[in-house]
Amino acid sequence: MEVEKFDAVVVGAGPAGAAAATTMARAGLSVVLVERGEYPGAKNVMGGVMYGRMAAEVVPEFWTQGAPIERVVVEERIWLATDDSAVSVSHRSPEGAYHPDGCPNAFTVLRAKWDRWFAQKAEEAGALLVPGTTVEDVLWQDGRVAGVRTGREEGDLYADVVVLCDGVNSALVERARLRDHPVEPHQLALGVKEVIGLPPEVIEARFNVERGQGVTIEIYGAVTRGMSGYGFLYTNHDSVSVGVGVLVSHLMRTRIPPYELLEGLKQHPLVRPLLAGGETLEYSAHAIPEGGWRAMPKLYGDGVLVAGDAAMMVNGLHREGSNLAMTAGRLAGETVVEAKRRGDFTARTLSLYAAKLEESFVLKDLRKYRDLPELAERRPDLFGTFAELVNLAAHEMLTVDGLPKRDKQRKIWREVTRRKPLWGLARDLYEVWRAIR
Ligand code: FAD
Repeated sequence: MEVEKFDAVVVGAGPAGAAAATTMARAGLSVVLVERGEYPGAKNVMGGVMYGRMAAEVVPEFWTQGAPIERVVVEERIWLATDDSAVSVSHRSPEGAYHPDGCPNAFTVLRAKWDRWFAQKAEEAGALLVPGTTVEDVLWQDGRVAGVRTGREEGDLYADVVVLCDGVNSALVERARLRDHPVEPHQLALGVKEVIGLPPEVIEARFNVERGQGVTIEIYGAVTRGMSGYGFLYTNHDSVSVGVGVLVSHLMRTRIPPYELLEGLKQHPLVRPLLAGGETLEYSAHAIPEGGWRAMPKLYGDGVLVAGDAAMMVNGLHREGSNLAMTAGRLAGETVVEAKRRGDFTARTLSLYAAKLEESFVLKDLRKYRDLPELAERRPDLFGTFAELVNLAAHEMLTVDGLPKRDKQRKIWREVTRRKPLWGLARDLYEVWRAIR
């Protein structure tokens, strides 16, 4: 049997894998990019906000090259919701939606289109894309990772380095001895999502935007029914992505079926009018790694690197994952290029990857929020309680019923402290501050 040997094998053609493959192929390395989907993105799920700066670091000026951008985000809204009301904060800046060089800051995508286009850039750079092929194991030689075993007949692929970008719940991370136990339920969220088709002009009228402009809404509070997580609505060109993500450990405890959560969100009185008359085009569910910095595997070994969701690189508080994945994939690629130059693919040289990540926002942000996953697991009540209290206060102050405002203030204070003693409020705020400071 003829043995195929590449400079690098990349497993998974999501944002991390395509970024790694493009970086290495562009530097002249022989790269094979293995993807289990029928095509890149075929089964990939994301709420849908991508970040331009990190995409441009892989494909410069991607926005001028037919990239499948749905809408550029000009407004981000956060709702703290009860069952029938919400206090909302938002930031809108059509001009600030672009970096000075014209690169969109954040934009919505449908992954089936985006991933296909992004992986095509890796192919154009010279990588060999092998879709419809699942990597089942890593191959070892002389105590180092030396390739992968695919599900195909005679499908072993050998390489100096294997870059694991196979997403959340990666079994290959364990096979490569970068972690010695599976990911635990409190380190995962489950996201369920629908794409609802609506004419562009209806979306623009309902969300108050112009053609090409988009809005994101994140909804905390009652929509997660006492579990840690949030609901979201993101506008695409002619559809709206609506979904909700909550910790798997909380789903196991409450036994609330995820589709019920999504149905509840769609029927929320503030959400229903935004989706009215729309047609469900797609329903999907996917896990999100939420364990943060403390739950990350080892990032490199002899002949192996791991990037993106497979390495737990998600900043849940800021709804960022795709950007961490693209940056980590690119840095993994750059590390392999350097290893090739040195002719050394041992952990000693590949440790450069961890150093590069340490210098980037990826590990700086994940480390900053390292205590947040534990708080989210332990205190699922935090957002619900806070949302209730601020809605109560807003409702009272905005109801014009002849009661003097000072009396209203006293009434709010009495009601708030009846529901949540002052020391409890102070302790909660302190805990949140500690976790995000
Ligand atoms: P993935 O995108 O998961 O790609 C992994 C790839 O590997 C897939 O193509 C898969 O088919 C392939 N693969 C897996 N196993 C194998 C195998 N054994 N052999 C071959 N191929 C394999 N992030 C954001 O930035 N913004 C958002 O709005 C956002 N919203 C989200 C909403 C939901 C509901 C979910 C689930 C996630 C969301 N995320 C968001 C997170 C984001 O999707 C991920 O962080 C990002 O996709 C990670 O990229 P990746 O390349 O590491 O992994």
